[in-house]
Amino acid sequence: MKIKVATIFPEMFEILDVGIIGRAKQNGLIDIQIYNIRDYSADKHKKTDDAPFGGGAGMVMTPQPIHDAILDMDKDRKAKRIYLSPRGKTLDQKTVERLAKEDELLLLCGSYEGIDERIIQLDIDEEISMGDYVLTGGELPAMTLINAVSRYIDGVLGSSESTDEESFSNGLLEYPQYTRPQEFMGLSVPQVLLGGNHKQIEDWRLEQSIEITKQRRPDLYEEYVSKNPKSGKEKKR
Ligand code: SAM
Repeated sequence: MKIKVATIFPEMFEILDVGIIGRAKQNGLIDIQIYNIRDYSADKHKKTDDAPFGGGAGMVMTPQPIHDAILDMDKDRKAKRIYLSPRGKTLDQKTVERLAKEDELLLLCGSYEGIDERIIQLDIDEEISMGDYVLTGGELPAMTLINAVSRYIDGVLGSSESTDEESFSNGLLEYPQYTRPQEFMGLSVPQVLLGGNHKQIEDWRLEQSIEITKQRRPDLYEEYVSKNPKSGKEKKR
């Protein structure tokens, strides 16, 4: 997959050279290209922002450098173009899996008070938010999106890592995980996990997942029960 990012802070993306994403880049599984919006500014001082029409606090990113950057980055209009924005649809696992099927993503990171609205009208397919809070720029959201999407690209996760049994993979939050030692600070690993009975382990994990989801995310729990009527409270385990 090819991912192109437009930002005024390209140096922030060096973090993508580390860990699983860094390995995927080195192995050619994802090609991440960072473009500096400032390089496209026609202003003699390479300005990328100006005061908002109508007044108000802060500065707004001007349309010209962003528009020219996007035209250069996506000449054939092949990429799914995303603006990271608190006004967008909140990123969830379904969206991550959908985006992972795209051949090319173009991510636009805003700064200051955001970008001129006409860029969204002219150049953007979709607005995606990281949640109901405001960050200083779209860079961390873009990196979060890249990280989440990359995990669904074939070969990015090693054989010991998997997206199959994680939170959200079956509509539920994940069950508790344990590793060695069997006893730690007086707390023991649940007996069922030590017995080697795979069916019992599977049942216990599902039960735990359902209970944790019910307590922490009633919205997900209700959705799960409506899709799996036998899996709700009434199910005998
Ligand atoms: N004035 C904007 C508003 O009230 O919606 C907030 C602008 S924010 C300070 C600057 C940039 O950070 C935005 O253009 C966007 O790219 C990014 N950003 C901030 N919060 C975000 C979030 N929750 N999700 C995605 N991007 C976000």
